[in-house]
Amino acid sequence: MEHQTSDTGIAAALDEVRARIAAAAERDGRRPEDVRLLLATKTIQPERIIEAIKAGAALIGENRVQEILAKADALAPCHPDTHLIGHLQSNKVNQVVGRVSCVQSVDSAGIADRLDRRAGEIGRPLEVFVQVNVSGEESKSGIAPTEVEALLEHLAGLQNLRFTGYMTVGLNSPEERQVRAGYEALRDLRDRHLPDFPSATELSMGMSGDYELAISCGATMVRLGSTVFGSRTR
Ligand SMILES: *Cc1c(COP(=O)(O)O)cnc(C)c1O
Repeated sequence: MEHQTSDTGIAAALDEVRARIAAAAERDGRRPEDVRLLLATKTIQPERIIEAIKAGAALIGENRVQEILAKADALAPCHPDTHLIGHLQSNKVNQVVGRVSCVQSVDSAGIADRLDRRAGEIGRPLEVFVQVNVSGEESKSGIAPTEVEALLEHLAGLQNLRFTGYMTVGLNSPEERQVRAGYEALRDLRDRHLPDFPSATELSMGMSGDYELAISCGATMVRLGSTVFGSRTR
């Protein structure tokens, strides 16, 4: 059985997470607007996404290019700002460039080259985040922290990409100390590279189960799905 949040429930859930985000930002000595909310909309039907957009959510994230294409017509009237937050295969690059404002999951020089080439072809610069696997779990996408520097140097040579931050999927664990260590590692990576990459300030980290913790570690964007829409069936 699927547990879905009703439409009024979506608005109420959004109000609640916004209040929690604001409180967590303030506890960290930042302003509420310094932490953006991205709605993770994988498996969520367009009608329900539109409810969330009407309730003020402006930024959505999809994991699969296929799903972005499938929902494009239904969501077009609302023109949400869309980010890709899932792994990108090279054969999907041409379909996604032009449809998203940011690819948060850049994890190789090869994929960066293809994104750069396509963004140049359509004449629209593309924002990118580098995805880092801070927990070292084999199942997770993203590059190892030790590989970040080389990828950043590569990105610096590409004309059509705007490298603006870092993304990670945190450790799924009840051990708060370990989850925190991962998020702090991403923040440290950003801070270490700020002198050479001053535009790369974003830290996209934190999901429904741990976004307040991620904000306390410096998250500038949290990606929330189930706490707004209810649990997913797949
Ligand atoms: C699904 C997903 C989220 C949101 O997860 P919830 O636990 O439902 O909030 C965030 N980021 C990525 C990359 C996801 O795939």
